[in-house]
Amino acid sequence: MANIAEMTPFQAVTRYFDQACDQLGVRDEVRNLICTPDREMRVEIPVRMDNGDLEVFIGYRIQHNGSRGPYKGGVRYHPEADEEEIRALAALMTWKTALVGIPFGGAKGGVQCDPRKMSARELQALTRRFTRSISQIIGVNRDIPAPDVGTNSQTMAWMMSAYAEENGYTPGVVTGKPLELGGSGGREQATGRGVSLMIKEVAKDLNIEMDHSKIVVQGYGNVGSWAAHYLDQSGCNVVAVSDVNGGIHNSQGLDLAQLKTHMDSTGTVIGFKGAEDITNDALLEMECDFLVPAALGGAIHIGNAAKIRARMVVEGANNPVTPGGEAILNDRGVPCLPDLLVNAGGVTVSYFEWVQNIQRFPWDLDRVNGALEEILVRAYREVRDTVAKDKITYRAAAFSIAVDRVVKALELQGLP
Ligand code: NAD
Repeated sequence: MANIAEMTPFQAVTRYFDQACDQLGVRDEVRNLICTPDREMRVEIPVRMDNGDLEVFIGYRIQHNGSRGPYKGGVRYHPEADEEEIRALAALMTWKTALVGIPFGGAKGGVQCDPRKMSARELQALTRRFTRSISQIIGVNRDIPAPDVGTNSQTMAWMMSAYAEENGYTPGVVTGKPLELGGSGGREQATGRGVSLMIKEVAKDLNIEMDHSKIVVQGYGNVGSWAAHYLDQSGCNVVAVSDVNGGIHNSQGLDLAQLKTHMDSTGTVIGFKGAEDITNDALLEMECDFLVPAALGGAIHIGNAAKIRARMVVEGANNPVTPGGEAILNDRGVPCLPDLLVNAGGVTVSYFEWVQNIQRFPWDLDRVNGALEEILVRAYREVRDTVAKDKITYRAAAFSIAVDRVVKALELQGLP
């Protein structure tokens, strides 16, 4: 196993898995079986670009573990979406679905491309070709993709349509769809809503007043912007947010409605009149109650963890804190609420969407939000109680609960 300072994302997730196995006394042969992804598919995606050139993209769908149900996980469009990262994200989905107790396994997909530089026609062609290439291994009872970084409800609509060409109308093959195509109310907001619910719960336990507590959010996309919105509504002071271009700060709290107007016209948070521009590095190092990294993996690492001045780090993104970074945070007494709990709201409402599609029976928004809160708060309390009982970190507790469920599901079905 690599030194924690240099771990790849998959080595990091495997390390957490191994630590949970040590704690639970899981046998080596079972560890090896679970650790090895069930299936990895790499596909070539030729796309005729608008300028007439034929470009060849590479895509992946990695199914990590299906012991507890059909594989489930997002599809990422990003220049750095390589096999190693997708494998790590697929494994994390196995632990996330197990932790919140929804009947899915874990998977992830990705295409190495820069969607910001592609036209809608090019993106549609890429999505349809990718879907056809993986259509043998996805399906409503096999593997159900969803949006992630660089993809959205429009991408899911194209995936659903491309899948239907061969298999007939099957809305439950993807989640995160537009409402008009069988999407669920509350799905777009679900991950950010979950982040805010988790902060409310942990704040109560740590005796931190929500009112006027200072929040800093790195990454103002789907997860970060909705988390900021719900935290603002709960009385918190969202003092700084950022995107790939940089950050903004206002010690009195940002006016998020005005920020939305600014973003609608400029496409970025920077240059907002109600705040000063800052760098992403400065944003991460600001003093605050809750720092929410909600962009990409590896944001807090061995190089900057000593400078983090938050009371707590709440992982909105997947793998935003490296193992080396977390070791430094732990030494400094800065707890870290882990991704598999904090951002599980998205997959939870994806589960509700799948249920509604299968039953052909839509739920109203109150039912979605009520069931989401019930599932996430229960998962939070299980993690918190395990932390108290076993004197371990929030992450170790979350992995321990999740790994135990997957191991039991696998063993009950019989080993080869
Ligand atoms: P998104 O594409 O909507 O937003 C990502 C945001 O991060 C954008 O504002 C982008 O500009 C910003 N960003 C990118 N690189 C950055 C950098 N270096 N510094 C600062 N900001 C940067 O993506 P999203 O759906 O909000 O996902 C964010 C994270 O949350 C990812 O790790 C994703 O895997 C995870 N996640 C998303 C969901 C979901 O439902 N969307 C669910 C669970 C986990």
